[in-house]
Amino acid sequence: MCGIVGYTGPKQASRILVEGLKRLEYRGYDSAGIAVREDDEAGGSQKPIVLIKKQGKIAELRKAVPKDMAGHAGIGHTRWATHGAVNDINAHPHLDASGKVAIVHNGIIENYMSLKEMLEKKGVVFISETDSEVIAHLVAYLYRGDLEAAVKAALGQLKGTYGIAVMHADEPGRIVGARNGSPLVVGIGDGEMLLASDVTAMLAHTKRVVYLNDGEVVSITPADFRISDLSDQAIDPKIDLVTWELGAIEKEGFSCYMEKEIFEQPESIERALSGRMDMEYGTVKFGGLNLSKKELLAIQRVRVIAAGTSWHAGLVGCHLFESIARLPAVSELASELRYRNPVVEPETLYFAVSQSGETADTLYAMREIQRRGGSVLGICNVVGSTIARESDGGVYVHSGPEIAVASTKAFTSQLAAFYLVTLAMARMHDMSHHEGVRFLENLKAVPELVRKTLGLRDHIQKIAKKYAHAKDFLFLGRGILYPIAMEGALKLKEISYIHAEGYAAGEIKHGPIALISPDTPSIFLVPNDHLREKTITSMKEIKARGGPVVAIAEEGDELVASIADDYIPVPKCDARFQPFTMVIPVQLFAYFCALELGRDVDQPRNLAKSVTVE
Ligand code: GLU
Repeated sequence: MCGIVGYTGPKQASRILVEGLKRLEYRGYDSAGIAVREDDEAGGSQKPIVLIKKQGKIAELRKAVPKDMAGHAGIGHTRWATHGAVNDINAHPHLDASGKVAIVHNGIIENYMSLKEMLEKKGVVFISETDSEVIAHLVAYLYRGDLEAAVKAALGQLKGTYGIAVMHADEPGRIVGARNGSPLVVGIGDGEMLLASDVTAMLAHTKRVVYLNDGEVVSITPADFRISDLSDQAIDPKIDLVTWELGAIEKEGFSCYMEKEIFEQPESIERALSGRMDMEYGTVKFGGLNLSKKELLAIQRVRVIAAGTSWHAGLVGCHLFESIARLPAVSELASELRYRNPVVEPETLYFAVSQSGETADTLYAMREIQRRGGSVLGICNVVGSTIARESDGGVYVHSGPEIAVASTKAFTSQLAAFYLVTLAMARMHDMSHHEGVRFLENLKAVPELVRKTLGLRDHIQKIAKKYAHAKDFLFLGRGILYPIAMEGALKLKEISYIHAEGYAAGEIKHGPIALISPDTPSIFLVPNDHLREKTITSMKEIKARGGPVVAIAEEGDELVASIADDYIPVPKCDARFQPFTMVIPVQLFAYFCALELGRDVDQPRNLAKSVTVE
């Protein structure tokens, strides 16, 4: 959701800004723009800042930016509108009245109305409908020849969330950034410096980064950077090295990122497991849990807080905790938990699950639990993200950058993390050594199982073509596959815009069966355990009422094949690991339906990749 790029150095700023914004496209946005401080000509005249903004895709902005645009420092933005319509004027950057101050802002300024009134009384004229424009005028109003000081003074008056980057025409080559609730990263290059809301925007230039914390301000020039807090105390920077490769954010021959990410899953799951399986003792080694064995042993119950696809991973995780580690476990929607005045008990272990590690709902719920004394472990993909840093410990899932808005590989890596944590807990309770080893052998086989399942691609594409024009779908599963049915329905909704519901198969006769007709296909996830026959009964109930049935079931299941209209045979495996073999077909099904309907698979309408607003 929304993005910031800033550049100062010897290269042509406009090119780097537009290219950086292109890398941030995946996060979802509705307009984009850049502001570049033109170079002084001999004699040092104070040139204004040149502004180019466009509603729509980065391609539109690119067309509007002259190829030979001069200037070596600038800021760029992709906007996801919260205040004011989507149009060129409301797009960022915003300038103050003199045209000397330019700002870009991610987030929401909650008290912008009162600040705007104050400034209007002083004669300031606002030209956009955004909350953000107030920052430009406020900084200009407080400017006394020192941009960093003016930004700090302005931040003292702002309430809300922000990641910002600010320039002043009188201080060429300097960009000041700050964050409070919206990420900002400093990129340290060789004779050049960058700022961005997301490392993917600067990966082509540097891998040396500093993640800013809330309340910190950074000032960059081509040769230097300085971080301090609002009271001007200098802060020692912690320089991190980004491990992601540039190739990981390219499509590498696939038609879109989602397709690439679906097919990357054997490797991404492998990475999530790698180095963590202790085959000798049938248990797990983690680097960052930050909990002693004694503390882990004292845990009586588990709660997962998450949203969307991560919540579905949490539901699978809770099934595992209960059935395998014998710990009562509940997966909660972060947006609900936070406002429910939750009871936090000392012997409960919390997990905050978020691909980006920036999901606002999950982050705020995590902070609420920590405020009440609860311990929260993060399960995140993005290293250095806010949840990863603020949680009490956690597990990185190492899926690599996930660019498509609809999550696929991060989901299966989150699942892998839950399988590992469950095993660690189970081995502390009543799981024996040899059962632990068997569990790990199964887990180790998952990447290969997923690879085989991906081989169903063409078969699933045919089935998707057949059904893609239906208006409603049901996804039905039981037990550990119920969350996978929910995930299948969500994927279909997200990228194809077809209405779909994920239901527990045993629940359909209590209501949803009324929806069944020849126009409403049902996708069944048939487990290979004690729930198989009950699931088959539900399939028959749907068939008896004229509903088309697509069944995803273990290969060689003749009975299922004879009942269903279409059968997707997945490789055989232990029932506890079927979430992996079942989620691949529902991801592919959603993907091929979206393709058939001509949707924008990577950037579906109205959605953003990392949901940084509540
Ligand atoms: N609230 C600001 C606006 O609507 C910034 C939105 C964003 O984060 O992109 O312009």
